[in-house]
Amino acid sequence: MNEQAIKDVLVQVLGNLVREVRAQKEDGIQKYVTDPIPVELSARHAHLSEADVMTLFGKPLTPARELSQPGQFLCKERVRLIGPKGVMDNVAILGPARKQTQVEISKTDARMLGVNAPVRQSGDTEGTPGIILTADKGVVGLPSGCIVAARHIHMSPEDAAHYGIRDKDRVCVRLNTDRPLIMEDVLVRVNKDFRLAMHIDADEGNGAGWRSGVTGIILGKSGAEHGLCSR
Ligand SMILES: [Zn+2]
Repeated sequence: MNEQAIKDVLVQVLGNLVREVRAQKEDGIQKYVTDPIPVELSARHAHLSEADVMTLFGKPLTPARELSQPGQFLCKERVRLIGPKGVMDNVAILGPARKQTQVEISKTDARMLGVNAPVRQSGDTEGTPGIILTADKGVVGLPSGCIVAARHIHMSPEDAAHYGIRDKDRVCVRLNTDRPLIMEDVLVRVNKDFRLAMHIDADEGNGAGWRSGVTGIILGKSGAEHGLCSR
């Protein structure tokens, strides 16, 4: 065998090896669809129980505008929040009424109001601080229910299948803003009634330079066991 023939064989063998290793790597790695997801900013708001609606307004809530999640609406009514250190007027109310009153604020709001609200998923209010709500007709002393809503993505089962992720998965999302930011630990919530949208709070939005129309891309699963935003 002459030198050229040996070289040719080597190139062929090495080429095959590289292709094999690449194929193995790709097999073991979950692929994420990188179609952009609309990112919406949730400003501070309250969800009210029917009883608290009656106490505060003396009548049912009035829808003002539909929100992205089907059946959810912004109300004409507004509420005032009173904490140990501060007051916030003109706080939005989202309808329809729920089983329990829940107030969702940012960490900045929490400081201004003087309540130590933890980051929680909606509905998980056990052991959270309370706050006072007032409106024209009355006052509600909420014993607990003040949270900083954890960032999350709403998805239909079809969306989840498309993106290759499941309910309660935690993912990393890169926000395509002027001040781009990768957000870890974004909870995926799958429900047939959900429309595709990621929700962040005002602090997160301002931190990333959010504006209307911004989108995010799922980079991979989040968490120590997956490495840093693994793909
Ligand atoms: Zn949401």
